[in-house]
Amino acid sequence: TEQFLLNSEKLNVAGQLAAGIAHEVRNPLTAIKGFLQIMDRESIGSKMYFDVLLSEVNRIELVLTELLLLSKPQNTKHKFINLESIIEQVISLMSTQAILHNIEIKKEINTDTCMISCDENQLKQVFINFIKNSIEAMPNGGPIYIKVFKRDNDSILIHIIDRGSGIPAEILKRIWEPFFTTKEKGTGLGMMICNNIIENHNGKLQISSSPNGTTIGIILPLNK
Ligand code: ADP
Ligand code: MG
Repeated sequence: TEQFLLNSEKLNVAGQLAAGIAHEVRNPLTAIKGFLQIMDRESIGSKMYFDVLLSEVNRIELVLTELLLLSKPQNTKHKFINLESIIEQVISLMSTQAILHNIEIKKEINTDTCMISCDENQLKQVFINFIKNSIEAMPNGGPIYIKVFKRDNDSILIHIIDRGSGIPAEILKRIWEPFFTTKEKGTGLGMMICNNIIENHNGKLQISSSPNGTTIGIILPLNK
């Protein structure tokens, strides 16, 4: 039955996640252990060893921090909030990074009602993840547009648009998988976490991409 299929699909993602976490945490741990053993044998800690240890520990920390977001949806705090103020806060949060990468983030509100019911921190996290991806897709800088439209009487549509290199079809198929990344220092968790949060808000994500850039669509129910 359909219910059974849904359950087994969920189980599959959980299994994939567990394997991924084990892998992601074990690899840096193995490296740390090895360096600790060398340092023990040589009775000395050289600067290079400490650098490697620190970067491996940072890696574990990053993966676990991102994963913690996944466990949050159980204790979400939904409030009525004006989406425009969330977007403004996110833009100001990201402003230093944006300037550093020669990026300009522009907001465009094309609706008179954007009151939604959401967990503010989680929704901010969604915007931050998408904006980070856009920044990383434009190494030479460029614009990022955040546009809000009234989709129909019951929902709004948010577009996050970049002018990056876009996502080839064979990669596009895999971006929702946990730990799938094309970046050397990526975690591959951002897209999956965003999808998870938006689903918890009864919303939907869309993505369209071409060699001229990528557009993420977020559909959220309007609160009237
Ligand atoms: P990460 O950013 O750690 O790689 P994500 O889950 O956020 O993990 O993204 C997965 C992959 O999707 C990225 O590695 C990248 O290949 C692709 N991707 C996501 N957003 C964009 C974008 N705006 N432009 C180009 N590629 C993107
Ligand atoms: Mg990312």
